[in-house]
Amino acid sequence: MFFQARGLTRRYGGTPVLRDVTFDVKQGEMVSIIGPSGAGKTTLLKLIAGLERPDEGALRFDTTPTRENPVILVFQDYVLFPNMTVFDNVAFGLRSRRIAKSEIRRRVMDVLDYFGLADKADQYPNELSGGQRQRVAIGRGLVVNPMMLLLDEPFANLDRNLKLQTAEFIRETQRTFGVTTLSVTHDLEEAFVMSDRIGLIMDGELVQYGRSKDIYFNPVHDEAARFLGPLNILEGEALRLVSDGPTGRVAVRPEALGLTVDENGPGIIAEAVFAGHFTRFAVDIGGERIVVYGNGPGLVPGARVSVRILDELIKKGTV
Ligand code: ADP
Repeated sequence: MFFQARGLTRRYGGTPVLRDVTFDVKQGEMVSIIGPSGAGKTTLLKLIAGLERPDEGALRFDTTPTRENPVILVFQDYVLFPNMTVFDNVAFGLRSRRIAKSEIRRRVMDVLDYFGLADKADQYPNELSGGQRQRVAIGRGLVVNPMMLLLDEPFANLDRNLKLQTAEFIRETQRTFGVTTLSVTHDLEEAFVMSDRIGLIMDGELVQYGRSKDIYFNPVHDEAARFLGPLNILEGEALRLVSDGPTGRVAVRPEALGLTVDENGPGIIAEAVFAGHFTRFAVDIGGERIVVYGNGPGLVPGARVSVRILDELIKKGTV
């Protein structure tokens, strides 16, 4: 075990905002903590970074963080020094560690090269794009050889396209440098893209911790299932019409259902909303209205359709 949080509880003015949070992170692992706003994610990060102390519980590192191998927190607004160049921003942590000038230059330029920022070394933060500033902030954390990197909402200030790119970039960087990383975010897609394991915090409790697919397809309860994405609950006639398989009550995500135009089909498209790489359909079937993501010719409001379950059901939660 590389890092372990055990029974962390934190109260503000008597109100617990984190309750009995226990989990571990392995060496070189990339973990994301997700959850709704106000769930306690930032508080957890502050405890791990040592900025605040838990009221109960403990943090354990395999080897104690030191000045040479610190735990580094990269803030969400990636606070760079505005009056320092990119080079000096990245070099800052090394300078305060009394490392030889030539060594500092080599390490900073290595990081800037890797991050595609070598030609920006002499520029100032306000001359960079949001994505570039984010990379400088992560570079500044990595250059000091951290034993653990903590990222607070790494996608918060990025536009949509840049979010996914940044998630992939963080993933690659994390693999290349092998640095154990814990990120806190409410951007689900990005968390799924980059993480080995995901923890879901709701209302101060870590309700689930595991591999991305397990979290998505095996949520611990209704509320968790719905936080992770839209959900259809199918039972009775509606269920019979979309499947020959399960009976009872099943939960299925909109992308796990398939639509085909079928003039004798049991469903009718009530609504079609174009959402870019998919269209969101509201379909009336068996007296229920369900949501299906898809694409295809002839799928327009008023069309008769058949609907099938194509993919995995949600196994727990609402079932
Ligand atoms: P998240 O990062 O998941 O949005 P936070 O950890 O920031 O959640 O906050 C969790 C809860 O704790 C919220 O209800 C917030 O208002 C409260 N909180 C956070 N910091 C403080 C503080 N310093 N004093 C009092 N309440 C706080």
